Amino acid sequence: MKVYTLGGYEEVGMNMTAVEVDGEVVIFDMGYNMENVISSEGQVDEMTTNQSLEIGAVPEDEPVLDKNVVGIVIGHGHLDHVGAIPKLAGSHDCPIYCTNYTAEIVERTIEDDRKNLSNQIIRLEKGEEMNVSGNFNLEFAHVNHSIPDSTLSLLDTPEGYVVYGNDMKIDQSPVIEETTDVERLKEVGEEGVKCMIPGTTRVDDQGRARSEESVKVEINDVLESCYDAGGAVFFSTFSSQIGRLNSLIEANDDRRKIAFVGRSLKEYVESAEKLGLINTDQIEVVSYYDECEELMDKVDGERENWLVVATGNQGEPGAQLDKMASGTYPFDFEKGDHMIFSSNVIPTPENKANRHKLENKLEDDGVRIYPGIHTTGHAHKEDHRDFIKFLQPEHIVPSHGTIQKLGSYVDLAREEGYSLGEDVHLSENGKCLNLDE
Ligand SMILES: [Zn+2]
Repeated sequence: MKVYTLGGYEEVGMNMTAVEVDGEVVIFDMGYNMENVISSEGQVDEMTTNQSLEIGAVPEDEPVLDKNVVGIVIGHGHLDHVGAIPKLAGSHDCPIYCTNYTAEIVERTIEDDRKNLSNQIIRLEKGEEMNVSGNFNLEFAHVNHSIPDSTLSLLDTPEGYVVYGNDMKIDQSPVIEETTDVERLKEVGEEGVKCMIPGTTRVDDQGRARSEESVKVEINDVLESCYDAGGAVFFSTFSSQIGRLNSLIEANDDRRKIAFVGRSLKEYVESAEKLGLINTDQIEVVSYYDECEELMDKVDGERENWLVVATGNQGEPGAQLDKMASGTYPFDFEKGDHMIFSSNVIPTPENKANRHKLENKLEDDGVRIYPGIHTTGHAHKEDHRDFIKFLQPEHIVPSHGTIQKLGSYVDLAREEGYSLGEDVHLSENGKCLNLDE
């Protein structure tokens, strides 16, 4: 078995890995490098594949271009896992496999890029088995993350299973969907896992990732105190965080009118509503300028009646929160209004600077700020240790991280009896590991 580590082995994001057995290849994920996409100021949709390769927005797929690729497997719908599909999938005459919510996002990503891909998109239910080719059967196992319908991809090969788990965590108290399907993982571990490919972005954090239910408790508490104090209440999270939005709707308990403002929020929520994951019957969902203007005018006149959810929690210039704080709409923040950030600041210099500017503007207006009402969707160190114990993989190829993250994972694997270069492997973008040598 060969493992091509194409992207996400020197950075967080741009995920892409391929596995070759007996001349057949399956690709896992085709993701954006979000930092480089953001620096291109939204021009990536207009770029050719070569242009997006040049700016480092998508993984270099040259090592698998002439291979017999029989399937593209997408584990979940975040852009650092699906964003590069419009640029790269067309080179391969094979289907794209994913779950329902992921398929909605993949289809929209292709549409936004105005590409006509001939790859068939095949939707799989979790637990359903699909024959991909002579060598491969595929099944998706349910896993917790921070977007609906996330999976561990279980690829059954003549040499044993490949388990692609990028991204994942174990949430004992999730608010939508179930806890990670630990029983299935243990079964697969018993049957024999040749190789596990885990995402490592949070492996340096000790203990376990906190549950989504614990964040719901915090949202309840903070909302209660905001409502007691009066003023307009604003809330922002990642638009694909459907569970979080449900927690907020429940905490509101029909006390205030809710508005969702922003294009990405509208798109992710619409897809979730199709699959019955959220109900927006009582919610004003707006994205076009005129709609936003009209809504914010209403909020300005009756600020005690509104709970406004807006895009732009990283302080991104041009996103809705930035517009609201910059006087784009007939609305002004006032002393005693509230801003709840249900997110972390993704730690790049640009994000930190943007968010700092946004908070300064809000503070100048006297807005009370509640940051960090959030938990990660990524496994911490002890979650990772459990995945190793459940799956007992013969080989581990840590992915989705800088060299430091991959190194920290290697340290953990060594605690569990693995040896570097022998059965836990440090790789780089563009390299190929031969697991039989
Ligand atoms: Zn993710």
